[in-house]
Amino acid sequence: MIAGPCGAESEDQLIDTAKQLASVNHVSLLRAGVWKPRTRPGAFEGHGENALRWLQAMREETKLPFTVEVANTEHVELALKYNADVLWIGARTSVNPFSIQEIADALKGTDIPVLVKNPINADLQLWIGALERFNRSGIKKLGAIHRGFHTGVNSQYRNQPKWEIPIALKSACPDLPVICDPSHICGRRDILLATAQKALDLNMDGLMIEVHRDPATALSDAAQQLTPKLFEEMLDKLV
Ligand code: PEP
Ligand code: MN
Repeated sequence: MIAGPCGAESEDQLIDTAKQLASVNHVSLLRAGVWKPRTRPGAFEGHGENALRWLQAMREETKLPFTVEVANTEHVELALKYNADVLWIGARTSVNPFSIQEIADALKGTDIPVLVKNPINADLQLWIGALERFNRSGIKKLGAIHRGFHTGVNSQYRNQPKWEIPIALKSACPDLPVICDPSHICGRRDILLATAQKALDLNMDGLMIEVHRDPATALSDAAQQLTPKLFEEMLDKLV
């Protein structure tokens, strides 16, 4: 179970949220973006290296390991400098084999775990290709994150789950852990529980869920984040 805010917004926001998550059963990894890929310029783009310092302080205080998104060589170097426990690759990066190769090259010689989100578009081969590039770079602790697909079709979801794609990934790579990120699939709180339950029913290996101490004031993805209390209530309902 990976949980945490979409973005690290301040040291206080991060540590306060993390302290509340540290006491929730099953949470084993704290997520927080420090470089946020935004569709339009001018929105909150993360606090970069400063936020990595906050994450180190958070880990010291709560004993929760952390994961951040990396999208280029500079991000990788900084994430390794601050001893990130796990890296994740965002959907906007997984679409680009040049970016993936650059990150995979920067990771050669390390054994940090890497979680690869599905590309924005519903292309299983592109997702597998990204995983292969890390594998060929010697990254053996690999996992995938299913966060849904942009299809241009209007529906209740922000990103269509197209469950057949993570199911096909699991059949193609039976040893690969596949985690579901219902937060970015749903884009809203009210259908999170049902989506998380569906992922568990399909034998996904874990969940990544966005949790913010005060979602109403979140600088990114406000509509889909849960309070720590709502998150705990949701976990209690999952079977
Ligand atoms: C995120 O995890 O906050 C994020 C930007 O996700 P995605 O790459 O799935 O859009
Ligand atoms: Mn987000």
